[in-house]
Amino acid sequence: MINLVQQAHRHPTITAILANGQSHTYAQLLESSEQFSRQLLNGRADLSETRVAFMVEPGFEYVNVQWGIWRAGGIAVPLCITYPPASLQYVIDDTSAEIVVASARYASLLRPILETRTIRFIELGLPEANSSGDLPNVDPTRGAMILYTSGTTSLPKGVVSTHANLEAQMTTLIKAWEWQPADHILCVLPLHHVHGIVNVIGCALWAGACCEFLPEFSPAAVFAAFQRGRINLFMAVPTIYFKLIAYWESLPEAEQQILTETMRDFRLMVSGSAALPVTVMEKWERVSGHTLLERYGMTEIGMAISNPYRGKRVPGHIGQPLPGVGVRLVDEQDELVEEGQPGEIQVKGATVFREYWNRPQATQDAFTDDGWFRTGDVAVVDEGSYKILGRSSIDIIKSGGYKLSALEIEEVLRTHPAIADCGVIALPDEEWGEIVAAVLVPAEEIDLAALNQWMRTQMAAYKVPRHYRIVTELPRNAMGKVTKNDLKQYF
Ligand code: ATP
Ligand code: MG
Repeated sequence: MINLVQQAHRHPTITAILANGQSHTYAQLLESSEQFSRQLLNGRADLSETRVAFMVEPGFEYVNVQWGIWRAGGIAVPLCITYPPASLQYVIDDTSAEIVVASARYASLLRPILETRTIRFIELGLPEANSSGDLPNVDPTRGAMILYTSGTTSLPKGVVSTHANLEAQMTTLIKAWEWQPADHILCVLPLHHVHGIVNVIGCALWAGACCEFLPEFSPAAVFAAFQRGRINLFMAVPTIYFKLIAYWESLPEAEQQILTETMRDFRLMVSGSAALPVTVMEKWERVSGHTLLERYGMTEIGMAISNPYRGKRVPGHIGQPLPGVGVRLVDEQDELVEEGQPGEIQVKGATVFREYWNRPQATQDAFTDDGWFRTGDVAVVDEGSYKILGRSSIDIIKSGGYKLSALEIEEVLRTHPAIADCGVIALPDEEWGEIVAAVLVPAEEIDLAALNQWMRTQMAAYKVPRHYRIVTELPRNAMGKVTKNDLKQYF
């Protein structure tokens, strides 16, 4: 990431960040983050992988603190701004953070946590003594960031990525998606996760482009930003597209047309972090006139598989391995599967993280002897394009000798007009090993008997859910992913 900072010297007068109506150039970011590095160093020569946790709202200060930590040689640990105190405490303790930084808005939330710990606390905006001195030389093999996984399957794990890892993750996308200095992206994603940090801010600043932040997500605010006319790139998770579509559909036709027109000249719209329902992709095409590009990635590896920037994007598919990223599909013995057969995705290359923080056993278990990272996600190559079948631990349902994909069953359920959304899980069963169960969010009243009949016309009988539950909303985590372990409680 040190190279990211170095590159900024090439275009000092260009606007790097736009937030709260204020623009900030690359020169301002360089100068301000250098000062903040000195404040962090506080006379030390090098933070030497000291963990610095920070809780700052999206905007200039967020990037400033992140760059400041990197330039001082520390490891940046971004805290999720919507986390409750217990989760903040978990991350601060788990990383054994030595320094915690907060903007004024979050200082009072963090203070009680820090009172009982020996941690240096920096509240932004308070006067500080000016310090001087050189910044350290930071080697690319050093740890740069600890990001916590989304906690979809179990307790979040801290993922340590080096400067070189993050750099490879960014340059891979810059090339594949043809980032340019003229680009202007709107960032609405949480900034404690790879999607917002690497794909949005990181790539934008690496490309010398402009990253614009919204103080808070709302569909109206997103469309209002689009209407200002400079934004040409957008990246989000499926639930965000879902909300934008619902808002657009609620408007009178004349207003819909106005909003659609504002997106006409967009260069690219991306979806990822969770499976993109085909229905959402199709509806978004009607709303925006654009075919979403779906890609697949993880905290541990950045992005690995992507639909093409130029070329056909296949609904329900994630595309092909990104150039430079090693990808293979293997069976339970880590042997390559035959063509067209499902297998676990394994990944190798410069983008792959160094280790799980403080979890040597988990790190060891996550890699094969010859260095491939086990993603735990199962996919199949279908007509040259990868298709995700789900996580082996929760989405692959083993029933009566068959292996079923929860994602495929969800995809069929979603095509039924009475169903707005759904989550499919396995329930233990004496006779079958596991059986299929579905939690449904209705779009209109659901006649379960009729739905069951209809499902039997859509798929083999052994795939049809045995049990249904109807709820008003699916449980989701901060990244908008359905937390499937929580669905079991309905049965
Ligand atoms: P945890 O590891 O704590 O259980 P998590 O795996 O959700 O949480 P992330 O690293 O944020 O944490 O998410 C990576 C996972 O998201 C992938 O392993 C995959 O299961 C899922 N994912 C990402 N992109 C896609 C996609 N396009 N389609 C389907 N699943 C996706
Ligand atoms: Mg994971």
